[in-house]
Parts: sequence; structure tokens; C-alpha cells
Amino acid sequence: MPTTTNALSVPAASAPFEAVQIERRDLRDDDVRIDIAFAGICHSDIHTVRDEWGAAHYPIVTGHEIAGTVSAVGDGVTKFAVGDRVGVGCLVDSCAECENCKNGQEQFCLKGSVGTYNARNYDGEWAAGGYSQQIVVTERMVLRVPEGIELDEAAPLLCAGITSYSPLKRWGAGPGRKVAVVGVGGLGHMGVKLAAAMGAEVTTLSRSADKADDAKALGATTHIATSDRAAMREARGSFDLVLNTVSADLDMEAYLRLLRPNGALVNVGLPPSNFSVKPGSLIIGNKSLSGSNIGGIDETQEMLDFCAEHGIGATIERLDASDTTTIDAAYDEVVAGKVRYRYVIDTATIPSA
Ligand code: NAP
Ligand code: ZN
Repeated sequence: MPTTTNALSVPAASAPFEAVQIERRDLRDDDVRIDIAFAGICHSDIHTVRDEWGAAHYPIVTGHEIAGTVSAVGDGVTKFAVGDRVGVGCLVDSCAECENCKNGQEQFCLKGSVGTYNARNYDGEWAAGGYSQQIVVTERMVLRVPEGIELDEAAPLLCAGITSYSPLKRWGAGPGRKVAVVGVGGLGHMGVKLAAAMGAEVTTLSRSADKADDAKALGATTHIATSDRAAMREARGSFDLVLNTVSADLDMEAYLRLLRPNGALVNVGLPPSNFSVKPGSLIIGNKSLSGSNIGGIDETQEMLDFCAEHGIGATIERLDASDTTTIDAAYDEVVAGKVRYRYVIDTATIPSA
């Protein structure tokens, strides 16, 4: 028999959250049932439920930054036992057989990876995400949360953490390298912590000076308000890597100008609109414009272990969901850039429907 669990669901693009009961499938041999403790609010949840990317399938239970404890395992599960502290990120399945899965890039599974929400499982059922009290996931997609990281501070690592870690590592953030992080939000604040822990010299770029003190506490040595045209001009040609985490349109040309020769602007922000770049802005200076999509399962575990080793968790504000309008208001605050720096839903407070 499938189990039922309390969840927060959005029935339509402009509708508020409501408390519902959803079903979680009966455990298959390779399944792990997780009692979710915390679920982070990623800006991708907001783009999705507000149908900014199109293709939203309602009702939607969002949430792909999940941390909790294993409460049951299928007969064939070998990696996890009841009581283990675990996480689930943006993926709940992939084929495991194609070259991309075998290379540890399950997000690019050739059969089509299964997202944690707004996606169909291979059995045709719609997946439902982490704003709920339980989830059932094949053990291959479950991560171990190391001791030393509290579950509430671990949850955002499952998306914001890995999405920052993967490009920082790929593009060589480390000693002697100057990294700029654009946008100090959920992804951005993790980008600062991780790049600093990798040994890079980190500068934050934010719309104003409001987050300057926080940015330095997170590990940045310099903070630039992008509204300060003189400071932006002075910063030209100074970074090896610019990580753009902004959820809205940006003038990419302005950020390409900040790169040293051979530098890279890596975009992880995902607003729905196009950006435009003159070919010459890449050619002059041998610059790269790149993108990065979350990270594979092994790399996500590597990131969690790196965070434990360096004492890194997300900087969070916990949300009580007993009044569901709190979550609607939290979405507005994230869009307004007011969150410091990730909202995390205490899922025990989700009301029963
Ligand atoms: P977030 O917490 O809202 O942070 C975004 C930051 O962008 C804000 O804190 C703000 O920083 C800046 N910003 C917001 N609106 C802006 C505007 N109109 N102009 C300039 N700057 C603005 O969002 P998030 O959860 O970090 O997600 C960021 C983006 O990454 C989203 O588009 C999300 O969908 C995407 N994402 C991509 C991946 C991937 O795999 N590539 C994974 C997860 C999320 P300041 O206040 O400092 O200016
Ligand atoms: Zn996310």
C-alpha cells in the first residue's frame, strides 16, 4: 500500500499554497523512504510554480533541497539504513546506463533524468517534491549528509550548494584565482563560501551595498555594488571567473568586461529570457561564456563531504508552515532579494489537510 503524507501544493500558477495529502509509492527493492525534516526554497521552485519557464504541471509540490532521516528501506537497499541522515536534490531518477549517467552526469541522462518535481517518473506518475513530510526515492539518488552539518543547513546544499560547487571546481577556483560571484542570494552565498574554502579570492557583486558586511562574513574580501558605475569600471579585467547566479535579466556584456584574458563567465541563473552578447566581447580576451546545471550524484556527495570538512552549511532562515500564507510571502521576499540567504521550511509544521 502506498503511504500518504502531508504536503504543500500549488494548484495553479497564480494560486497560493494549500495543505494537501499526497501519496508516496510503496517501497520498491531499491527504494528509501525519507522522513523529511527540512526543505529549502530555491528560486527555481518559484520560476516553476509561477510558470515563468512554461510547462508547469499543476498541482505542484515543489522542493528539491531535501534533508531528513531514513525511515524505511526496500529489501535490496545496501547503501542506507533506518536512521541515516540523508538528502535528495534535483533528481530522483535516471537510467543509470547511458554514457552520461555512467560518467556521473545523471542530470544529462540520455533517457531523460527525472526531476524531483514537475516531472514524470519512468512509471508515468508525476513526481512530488520536498515541501512534504515524506518522500520515497531510489537509493542511487540519495545522498549521505555527513555528521557536523545540521539538517536545516544541509538542505540548501542539495541544489544551491552543488550548483555553485560544480562550476567553481570545473573552472579552477582555488589559490591565486580571483572569483566574482554575481547575486548574493541562495546560490550566490553558497558560491562565496565554497570559492573562499577552495582558496580563491572572492568578490561579491550585488545590486547595492546592503549585503556588503554579510558578504565579507561569508568569505568575500571585496563587495561591489553594481549600481556604482565607477566601481564597476575599476573592476574591469580583474577576474579569472565570474559566476552569475542572478535570477533576472542581466547585461552580460558588463560582466564579460570584468574578466581577465582567458577568463570565464559561468551562468547558472535561469531567467526565462535570452541574453545577447557581441561575438567580439568573447573574442577580445579569449573569453568563455559557459553554463552549468546542478551536478551529478557523485559530485554532490563530494560537495557535501567538502562542506563537512570545511565546516560549511547554508545560512538559513527557518519557516513555520502552519500558516501556509507564510510560504507565499516567503516567495515574494525571495523575488525581492530579501532572504538572508535561504528559506528552509520546517516540514514538521506543514498542516494536515
Ligand atoms: P535567489 O536566492 O533569489 O538569488 C538571486 C539573486 O539575484 C538575488 O539575491 C539578487 O542578488 C539577484 N537579483 C534578483 N533579482 C535581480 C534583478 N532584477 N537584477 C539584478 N539582480 C537580481 O535565487 P537562487 O535560488 O539563488 O537562484 C538563482 C537563479 O539560479 C534562479 O534563476 C534559479 O532558477 C537558478 N538555478 C539554476 C540552477 C542550475 O542548475 N543552473 C540550479 C538552481 C537554481 P543581490 O540582492 O545580491 O543583487
Ligand atoms: Zn534549485
